[in-house]
Amino acid sequence: MSTPEASTLADLLRNVLETIPDRVWLKDLNGVHLVCNTAFAEHLGASNAQIVGTDDAQWVGAELAREFLAADRLVIETGRTLTFEGPMPSPAHNDPRVYEVVKTPMRNSSGQTIGVLGMARDIQDRKDAESLLRDTTEQLELALIGAELGCWDHDLRIEKGYFLDERSCAMLGRDPAERNHGRAWGHLIHPDDLPGTLEAMRAHLSGAAPAYEAEYRARHTDGHWVWMSNRGKVVQRDKAGKPLRMVGTLMDISKRKQAEADLLATQAQLQASLTAIEHLAFHDTLTGLPNRRMLNDRLETALLASQRNRTHGALLFLDLDKFKYLNDNHGHDMGDRMLQEVALRLQQCVRAVDTVARLGGDEFVVLIQGLSQDPHGAKQHAATVGYKILSSLNEPYALQGVAHTITPSIGATLFLGHGVDGTELLRQADSAMYDAKSEGRNTLCFYEK
Ligand code: GH3
Ligand code: MG
Repeated sequence: MSTPEASTLADLLRNVLETIPDRVWLKDLNGVHLVCNTAFAEHLGASNAQIVGTDDAQWVGAELAREFLAADRLVIETGRTLTFEGPMPSPAHNDPRVYEVVKTPMRNSSGQTIGVLGMARDIQDRKDAESLLRDTTEQLELALIGAELGCWDHDLRIEKGYFLDERSCAMLGRDPAERNHGRAWGHLIHPDDLPGTLEAMRAHLSGAAPAYEAEYRARHTDGHWVWMSNRGKVVQRDKAGKPLRMVGTLMDISKRKQAEADLLATQAQLQASLTAIEHLAFHDTLTGLPNRRMLNDRLETALLASQRNRTHGALLFLDLDKFKYLNDNHGHDMGDRMLQEVALRLQQCVRAVDTVARLGGDEFVVLIQGLSQDPHGAKQHAATVGYKILSSLNEPYALQGVAHTITPSIGATLFLGHGVDGTELLRQADSAMYDAKSEGRNTLCFYEK
């Protein structure tokens, strides 16, 4: 007869058996069920009482029962716990779920094996999670391959915590066998790119930037630089917010960087060509002076300024005297040199705000602005500039070691406001220049209105 304590213990054990969420059963050495919990009984579609005293054949058929018995015997013979994974057939319902079955030999107090304790745990959810993780990892791997990305993983807690995957290693020519690097690879970054890279890392680690993003040149093992795009994120922090682990991706962007550099070079070339074309359109190729087109623009601006400020301006028209003689006797090249020298001297005779232009042949025009409001003062100023030019051009020219001389005939006209247009002013100055030619050349004549 059981004491109250014994019956309490039996109740307690029964309770424990029922509380275990796994299916639990105990069979004797011949495969006859001695005890089970309700979870197991329900799995077979029966009550605990119906199962006790039966063997598996009654519930799962002879063939499966033989397999179960073989496993039980193995447990008994080896005296060791065996674990299986697989379905657990049930006569009551179709159960497609996967179980982890653990079979353990059960011994009595004298160490004799008296049966096999079985426990089956439903691990379908774990299997699903594992399979989902596998799928996700595979998809991620495919995405990384497709995007030509390498991965890195940095455990910030340990010294040798820097890990590069195979693709990252390949980008830098590193041996994948040595992909677990002892230290971060700041020492492999181009010195010009290092400060920006470290700053990006600091900004992220401190929480100021949501991610770490940097582009820099990294040293390939064969010595050349590889442009890399590196993006990463802290994925683990301690309770105080201190970063513990970072993961990220690496991309070789050398081709893109090269294309960008090529594009910049092309743009610079294009800009240089445009500047050259623009210069050609507005300048004389022999002397580099503004041409007729630019002179017309400047003249138009000067007329408006004169109108606004009520100040006079002057237009001086120059034609070299007997220039053909130089060409004919010393060659066209010598003539060209003379024109270039004349251009230089003319520029030295005027201020930066004034304009010296070459119209073509041996004809030059000087536009002087900002003269006096008083017509006499303005004329005097223009005459001073005119005579300064006469005197300067009269100085001998050393062309290819030989001294040459040339003189100009200058016609001048004054303007005030926009009463007369540029074409008319040029005509007036040209006409005054012919007066200077008529007066024996090498002189200055004003247009008389
Ligand atoms: P004038 O005193 O009447 O001005 O006589 P000129 O010999 O200077 O004759 P003109 O001004 O009518 O002719 C200018 C000459 O300049 C005509 C041409 O042979 C020459 N010429 C025109 N363009 C160029 C050029 O680009 N280079 C050189 N070397 N000579 C040029
Ligand atoms: Mg001439």
